[in-house]
Amino acid sequence: MTDIVNLTGDHWARRAVADAWESAGRPPINSAGRLYAEQRELYIGYAERRPGFAPADNPDDESQQLAHCRFVALDIDPTPARVAALGRAGLVRPYWYEPWHWQLPGDVRRFPIVRNLPIPTLEEEMGFYCSPDGGKTIFWWSAANQRVRKLTDAEAAVIRGGSSIPELKVKKVGAGWLGQARRLG
Ligand SMILES: [Zn+2]
Repeated sequence: MTDIVNLTGDHWARRAVADAWESAGRPPINSAGRLYAEQRELYIGYAERRPGFAPADNPDDESQQLAHCRFVALDIDPTPARVAALGRAGLVRPYWYEPWHWQLPGDVRRFPIVRNLPIPTLEEEMGFYCSPDGGKTIFWWSAANQRVRKLTDAEAAVIRGGSSIPELKVKKVGAGWLGQARRLG
């Protein structure tokens, strides 16, 4: 069972980070969890001195903190109110030169590098799927938290192959789908 959850939009993090972010009032996120493959691209671009690539850590160097790759970091613009709220929520800012970077306290190397987002599992939460572009992009609206997010590729594949999920009742509406279902992932 993974402890990686969706925060908002395409941002994902470990449950402990999500809880802290929620209790700090859900401030806008610029960056959260970063998958291994994504970090590797950044590192290769930097190592090969490709234009537009900033210094980036090597995700294969486990001696590094790599907090974003361990899904325990958030980049959030540091307004005074957010600094206070995120601090109260238990997150820390270890780097004075990155005042926007928050992470869980302690040595984050106790968390493994993340290579994949959670694979879909059924959960007891009702909501709706919709796809405004005929299935290319699929969104989930959660009745429980009144939030919309884009499904991951893995989740979308399950929806497209729909029949394996008895709870899923999806029908074509115009260019998209509208359905009521239990949540995936
Ligand atoms: Zn950061």
